[in-house]
Amino acid sequence: MPSVRQSGLPKFIQDKLTKTGYTRGAEKNTIYQNRVTRNNTVLIPRKSWDACRPEVAEAYEKGFVVLVEPSWYFADAGSHEHLASQGIHLGVNALLLYEVRSDWEEYGPQATCLHDGTPLAVADSRTAPLGGNYFARIHATTSDAAEQMIKGFNNSSLRGAGIRVFEYASSETIYRCKVQLEALLWLCRNALQYLSPEFVTSGEAGQAMDLALHAAEDAGLLDIPRLLEARIINSELETCCPLCLEPIYVSAFLQRTEQAEGRETRDLTTTEVSLFHIAELRVGTLGHRPYNLGWGHHHCNVVVKDDGIEGALAWMRRVLDNQAVARGL
Ligand SMILES: [Zn+2]
Repeated sequence: MPSVRQSGLPKFIQDKLTKTGYTRGAEKNTIYQNRVTRNNTVLIPRKSWDACRPEVAEAYEKGFVVLVEPSWYFADAGSHEHLASQGIHLGVNALLLYEVRSDWEEYGPQATCLHDGTPLAVADSRTAPLGGNYFARIHATTSDAAEQMIKGFNNSSLRGAGIRVFEYASSETIYRCKVQLEALLWLCRNALQYLSPEFVTSGEAGQAMDLALHAAEDAGLLDIPRLLEARIINSELETCCPLCLEPIYVSAFLQRTEQAEGRETRDLTTTEVSLFHIAELRVGTLGHRPYNLGWGHHHCNVVVKDDGIEGALAWMRRVLDNQAVARGL
């Protein structure tokens, strides 16, 4: 399966399509890998196991690691057996994650060992055996001048233990999403007209458009009623922003977001148009999938953030109502 279709599209658009298959937004020095493909090892918090275990969610291509809180594990004498009964084994497919300094002091390797007598050791692999049974990310505090503590998955070739479970998609799904998103690109207003100069002849541009649309159709990814229902396209059958519903122009893929005046840093990776999840990503559902992705304005994406479109609309309604009252409208 090719990772990128040879579509003849300009490189900046091909790059944008490729990046849709990458995780994003995880901050530095956290346990999560950022900007890696979405089929990497997933990290599943113990409390989310029921919703995210592979039999319920999906067989994770590069496996998973369950994150177990030391305060829960050590406070309960039966925790080891409880985990085992669910197929969770520390050092094999699970790790203790120390995030709180008091947990480290009370239950760290200098103080204790696992309930079955195994000494605590730092893990250094994303696949079984994990090379150990714990890792740690404890933030520095200013009050007692305690230093930040980072143990495990922190060298340049192994940064982050895995990806957030809700960002996961199989390589097949990643590919199908790209095929659909490429078709949606060609459904943007004036796409052919705008992209033609990027090809040797306008005939080639038309051919590329036909190929992309047919590829999507053949794969069941150009179901117009479904795209309309998700407000990924509008009634003109043009790609639209899922929040403001205004048409998306291909030219906007190249525009940088206008920076607020006086802001010092310019984020050059932020473009006017960005990948938009219709239902927001959250633990328990795998939202990176066809018919849940569109192209939307960067600004609208920021407004929606983690609330989802419905949450953002409810907020907007409140804002308008409050303003109407205050203005006597
Ligand atoms: Zn918009």
